[in-house]
Amino acid sequence: MVSSEYERRIAARFAGFDQDGNGYIDREDFSAATKAVLAEFGTTARSDKGQALYVGAEAFWQGMAGIADRDGDQRITREEFVSGAVKRLRDNPERFAEIARPFLHAALAVADTDGDGAATVGDTARVLRALGVGEGLAATVAGALDADADGRIGETEIVSAFARYFTVPE
Ligand code: CA
Ligand code: CA
Repeated sequence: MVSSEYERRIAARFAGFDQDGNGYIDREDFSAATKAVLAEFGTTARSDKGQALYVGAEAFWQGMAGIADRDGDQRITREEFVSGAVKRLRDNPERFAEIARPFLHAALAVADTDGDGAATVGDTARVLRALGVGEGLAATVAGALDADADGRIGETEIVSAFARYFTVPE
């Protein structure tokens, strides 16, 4: 049985990856996400942080394609996402977190404007907004990420939240 709540969650996750909204996930979506985050923080693509984010995005895309692009056309359709990615990510969210970790690590470094190894809740919300998350939701999600309420969000919190996000209950 597939509930409508489940379908809604899947649709939201697919839309989150399909940054340009053209109906499939491909490398362009990952570079669009990278550009948006760098632009938000005024970080150049040539800088160390910019380069790291591009490298992380490419690794993330390759990992996703390895899991979900079953026909090898370099596009993940919604059907491939549902039948391939979601099931495997749900079965093993930690593995997915590892695929995403270099990108998340690099995004956190961009958002960590004072270089202390963590991003503020406000700067984390800026990353989420750059990725297309709505204003109110971005603030809510960023606040929830700060589990110990010290106002800072570190890599462990981000990676584990990401894994949780893909543990979709059916
Ligand atoms: Ca797309
Ligand atoms: Ca495909």
